[in-house]
Amino acid sequence: MAEPQVGYVLDCPCGSRLTGDGEDDIVETAFAHLREKHPDMADHYERADILAMAIRSPG
Ligand SMILES: [Zn+2]
Repeated sequence: MAEPQVGYVLDCPCGSRLTGDGEDDIVETAFAHLREKHPDMADHYERADILAMAIRSPG
């Protein structure tokens, strides 16, 4: 049984649009992006920071 999931969108300052199907997914996606594209920034962010920047997208 799947609970309704909230989609998230996070526009990275570098221009990449990251999307996730839920909190865990957007956090995972964002950290993967940070480690790949902005390794010097990855250590400065925590889950709460990612979720603070992410925007809930309806649907
Ligand atoms: Zn980026």
